[in-house]
Amino acid sequence: MGKFKVLVTEHIADAGIELLKSQPDVELTYDPELFRNFDRILQIIPEYDALITRSGTPVTEELLERAKRLKVVGRAGVGVDNIDLEAASRRGILVVNAPTGNTLAATEHTMGMMIAAARLIPYAHKSLKEERKWERKKFMGVELAGKTLGIIGFGRIGSRVGIRAKAFDMKVIAYDPYIKREKAERLGVELVDDLDELLKRSDIITVHTPLTDETRNMITKREIEKMKDGVILLNIARGGIINEKDLYEALVSGKVRAAAVDVFSKEPATDNILLDAPNIVVTPHIGANTFESQTNVAVIIANQVLAALRG
Ligand code: NAD
Repeated sequence: MGKFKVLVTEHIADAGIELLKSQPDVELTYDPELFRNFDRILQIIPEYDALITRSGTPVTEELLERAKRLKVVGRAGVGVDNIDLEAASRRGILVVNAPTGNTLAATEHTMGMMIAAARLIPYAHKSLKEERKWERKKFMGVELAGKTLGIIGFGRIGSRVGIRAKAFDMKVIAYDPYIKREKAERLGVELVDDLDELLKRSDIITVHTPLTDETRNMITKREIEKMKDGVILLNIARGGIINEKDLYEALVSGKVRAAAVDVFSKEPATDNILLDAPNIVVTPHIGANTFESQTNVAVIIANQVLAALRG
């Protein structure tokens, strides 16, 4: 029997590449820069049984149309928005991703961003390091201990943020209409039945839902008005869940004391309105960027693709 031909068009961690290379029934083409040359991908794709990408390779209808042998597309990461899922499913091509590989990375980034926002660490850092100022009074923060953390979306990341927040002596409440009450109870977290209750009771609010029609603009001016004055807001999930213009205005007015945002409605977000807001800690979508998570993702996706090829 011939070998399965696997094409990897973007960089994935060595552990995943080594795993694929070591399979006797796999012939691997690893070209981490290939995603920049879409025409070349179109040219060679008919030979391949499997394609592994990150978010940079547009897996379009045109590409899938040419991919006569393709059985599986593996997305090394979570979001599959670069893949035409409908066109793939019409052709019976399986699309797999690795949603669990970066859970801890995103959880830890959330904790870091929470403390950074509560204590305005990046502003103090900039003041001392870049402006050579010693402004001890200017950077007055709030403590996490004793505060109520409201988690919207109590899935893999949300629940792990909850566990860590409890270790900081926070009271944790969560809103997630799709999980079993026992899951929250087991972790000592109170599940509230409506979003308004969470908005009213929380000192810090963090969103951990996917971006769907239901969650887009879940937090707008209307919701922010219901929150406590001086609330801290975090979005490490997906841009657009919290309305950016409304968050900007609430930071300017002081209704929201501070915010931390890793994800934006349009990325790269180098001219996003939030970059001009006061008291905001921003990072360029690096929630999943740890060595460990990239290794996990690469190994998970390699195994998923192998399983799909071998049926
Ligand atoms: P998950 O599927 O395990 O959890 C999502 C939770 O949201 C589920 O429990 C679901 O029931 C809940 N939910 C869905 N719709 C809801 C609604 N309308 N109201 C309240 N809850 C709702 O996903 P996860 O792995 O925890 O990831 C959560 C988010 O984090 C995703 O958007 C993911 O893309 C994002 N993420 C971001 C980064 C980053 O780099 N910043 C890294 C990993 C994941």
